[in-house]
Amino acid sequence: MFDKILIANRGEIALRVIRACREMGIRSVAVHSTADADAMHVRMADEAVCIGPPAGTESYLRVSAIVSACEITGAQAIHPGYGFLSENQNFVQILEDHGITFIGPSSEHIRIMGDKITAKDTMKALGVPCVPGSDGGVPDLETARSVAEEIGYPVIIKATAGGGGRGMKLARSAAELDEAFRTARSEGKAAFGNAEVYLEKYLGKPRHIEIQVFGDGKGRAVHLGERDCSLQRRHQKVLEEAPGPVIDAETRARIGETCAKAMADINYAGAGTVEFLYENGEFFFIEMNTRLQVEHPVTEAVFGVDLVREQIRVAAGLPMSFVQEELTPRGHALEVRINAEKLPNFAPCPGRITQYHAPGGLGVRIDSALYDGYSIPPYYDSLIGKLIVHGRDRPEALARLHRALGELIVDGVHTTVPLFEALLKEPDIQQGDYDIHWLEHWLETHLE
Ligand code: ADP
Repeated sequence: MFDKILIANRGEIALRVIRACREMGIRSVAVHSTADADAMHVRMADEAVCIGPPAGTESYLRVSAIVSACEITGAQAIHPGYGFLSENQNFVQILEDHGITFIGPSSEHIRIMGDKITAKDTMKALGVPCVPGSDGGVPDLETARSVAEEIGYPVIIKATAGGGGRGMKLARSAAELDEAFRTARSEGKAAFGNAEVYLEKYLGKPRHIEIQVFGDGKGRAVHLGERDCSLQRRHQKVLEEAPGPVIDAETRARIGETCAKAMADINYAGAGTVEFLYENGEFFFIEMNTRLQVEHPVTEAVFGVDLVREQIRVAAGLPMSFVQEELTPRGHALEVRINAEKLPNFAPCPGRITQYHAPGGLGVRIDSALYDGYSIPPYYDSLIGKLIVHGRDRPEALARLHRALGELIVDGVHTTVPLFEALLKEPDIQQGDYDIHWLEHWLETHLE
């Protein structure tokens, strides 16, 4: 096992990893920008190294500074968290060359899944059901037109290198195809340096259901059920739950086993998420994330496992500490993402926290790097905390979420807490009856 792990991230996810390290008796190294000198992850780690100025590109994304921090502190492995370098195959390749262990999959698996066309081709060949669409990339408008005619409108044009909801354009009819094609290409080029696009059938009322998978890198893999992340704003998840309100045990086993087998077949190592759209009882693969997800705690709650501990074990060459037969979901968990943003426009709202009080009690978990007097810097993502609740069933989890939100105090900045208080009153939310478009429609009519 490692003696020392460096965490190439900040905020709540850095704390999450430090906590796992401490429980495993592993020393932790935080890295930070000058803007984060007073951040909680710096205080909580055993050691800390400043790696550059505030901008992410000059600190948390600077591979040379992070590798140097490893050499200076003697850290043997790096946990990337999510975002930043977590799905950067060059970074992982460099670590492999330096003999530093990356806590995650191989650079090859990151490469395959990081390119959406290659990912889809790979998954299709492994027997995973995919959204109907073009066979690989669409080189020109002519081809786009003929594929769209064949599968039927509406269609969605996606940049193969896209992510975070960017590089996706909807075309409802042939008249809209030209512009959708051009914009998806130029967004792909501008944001990700790759103009290649592909085409997919646009699904009208799907849910976003994702399967948590875990592999040992030696041909064994399991699944830890699904998360329903259908409540989205601008293709970004807002609330997540496990199990999915519309997924029964048989459906879970069927899609879960398909994903686990695919991961076993490619010798996948560590945690991964296979994302699907789910409509009329059918699953359609959209992409795979080769890292820990923001929403992993809902899976941890219902399966009673520590996914970060497991990632570290597998990276150290140890076997997984569970087998598929032991993995049964228990009760229901919900997570809400608390952002420092001002409603109704969700404008980022950095600033000083004048008072912070975290909720507690049975079945409540808060993953946050906030503290009294902390100043949220303006340079990074606006996520300031995640509130996760677990109950014996969905109604109990909802009641607990309502109770915990009432206890939470974050003064000094605006947050998305009022959104969740309003959502909990909605019958559709109470009944779990929502698709990926529900929240956008609701926001149009309810937040003025
Ligand atoms: P990203 O990598 O940017 O997150 P994804 O491919 O995972 O992109 O898609 C993000 C979200 O966009 C999905 O959760 C869903 O809401 C929507 N979406 C993606 N593909 C489709 C599709 N074929 N039909 C309808 N909605 C889609």
